[in-house]
Amino acid sequence: MISRRARNLLTLSGLLFTLAACASIPSDCTSGDVRLTQGFSGAPAHTCTRTGPAAFRLTVAPESMPINPSPWYAFDLETANPVEVRVELAYALHAHRYPPRIDRGEDVWELLPAESVSVGEEGRTATLDVTIAPGTSRIAAQEVFGLRQRAQWRAGFAASAGLDRRTIGHSVDGQPIEALSRRASDPSAPLIVILGGQHPPEVTGVLALRAFLQTLFDPSSPDAILDRFEWLIVPDLNPDGIERGHWRHNLNQTDLNRDWGPFNQPETAAVRAEIEARVSQGQTPFLLLDFHSTYRDVLYTPPDDFGLSPQNFARHWIAGIDAIWPGPGPAFERGPNHNPGLPTAKTWFAETYSAPGLTVEFGDQTGRIRIAELAQTAATALRTYLQTARASHETGEVLSPVSPPADPVPVDVAGLPR
Ligand SMILES: [Zn+2]
Repeated sequence: MISRRARNLLTLSGLLFTLAACASIPSDCTSGDVRLTQGFSGAPAHTCTRTGPAAFRLTVAPESMPINPSPWYAFDLETANPVEVRVELAYALHAHRYPPRIDRGEDVWELLPAESVSVGEEGRTATLDVTIAPGTSRIAAQEVFGLRQRAQWRAGFAASAGLDRRTIGHSVDGQPIEALSRRASDPSAPLIVILGGQHPPEVTGVLALRAFLQTLFDPSSPDAILDRFEWLIVPDLNPDGIERGHWRHNLNQTDLNRDWGPFNQPETAAVRAEIEARVSQGQTPFLLLDFHSTYRDVLYTPPDDFGLSPQNFARHWIAGIDAIWPGPGPAFERGPNHNPGLPTAKTWFAETYSAPGLTVEFGDQTGRIRIAELAQTAATALRTYLQTARASHETGEVLSPVSPPADPVPVDVAGLPR
C-alpha cells in the first residue's frame, strides 16, 4: 500500500514533469478552426492565450534581461476555412517595433496593410486583424530565415562563387558554425573578414549581406583581384539564437557582439581561431565588415586618422559608394564610432590588428529593393577600391581611389604585404 506522502510526492513529481514538458513545447493555441503555432526554426515560444473565437494573445518577452529592444515574434496560423483572425501582441516591458509581415504560404513576404494593425498606448500592444486563407500563413516581425534555409543559401552561394565551406566550430547547442572561404595563392595575402547573423532579428542585415556577397563574387566578373586576397566569411554566427527566435543573445544569454575580447562564447572564439591561424601563417588582417540592422542605413566606422592600415579605408570606400549610387536619397550615413572599450567585432579587429573594422547597418524598414541595390553598390565600390589599392601596391605609384572625395587622400597600402 503506497503511503499518502509517497502518493503526494508522485503527484508533485508528475506535475513538475508535465510543467517541464510544457515549458519545452512551443506555445500552440487552437481557437475554433484556427491554430496558432510557433514550432518552426526562427520562432520563439511566446506564451499564447485564446481570447475569443479565432482570437489570440501572444506575450512577447525576451530570452533574458537586460537586452536591446528587438521584440521579435514569428508564428503560423493554420485554418481549413477562410477566417478573420485577431492576434494581440502584448509586450511586457518593451514597445512594439516591427510592423508585421506575412507570407501566405507562397514564400513571398509583404507588410500587413497599416489598417490591419492597431498599436496601443506607448506601443505596449499591437492588434492584428487579418483574413487568413485555407492553409498556413506565417506572420513575423521580419522575413523568417530558419537554419535550414540559411544552410541551403550558403551551400548554393558557395558553389556558384567558388568558395569552400567548412565547419569552424559549434554553437553552445552544437550547431555547426560554417565559414565560406577562398584561399589566396600568396601565403602572405591580405585577409578580409565578413561577418553576419550575430543578432537574430536583424534580417535586413542578412538580405544585405547576401546581395553584397553575390555582387562581390559575381561569377561573371573577373575575379583576379579577389584571388589576391584571403577571404573568411561567416554569414550566420548565432545559430542557436536564430533557431529559437531570440531577440539578441546566444544560448548562454550573451550578446555575441560584446564578446570580442573576452571570447567566452564558442561562436566568437571559433572565428578568432580562424583569423589567428591565418595570421600565424603570415597573412595580414586587412579589413573586417560586420553586417547588422538598426533603424537606418549607416556605416559605423573607425574615425579617420586613427592610425589604421589601410589608412582612411572608410572614407575612400564611402566616396566610391557615393560616386556610383544612383539614389534615390543618399547612400549610407556615416557614424565615425569606434566604441573604445566595447568588445564589438569591429573594435576588436581595429585594436588588435590596426586594420579597419566596420559595422554595416541596414534599416529594419528600409525597402527591400533599396537594400539589394545599396548592398550591390557597396560591393562594386569595394571591388574597385581593392583593385585600386592593389594596383597602387604593385606599381609603386600612389593612386587616388576612384572618384575621390573633395580633398583626395592617396590610398595608403601599408597594410598590403611587401
Ligand atoms: Zn546587431
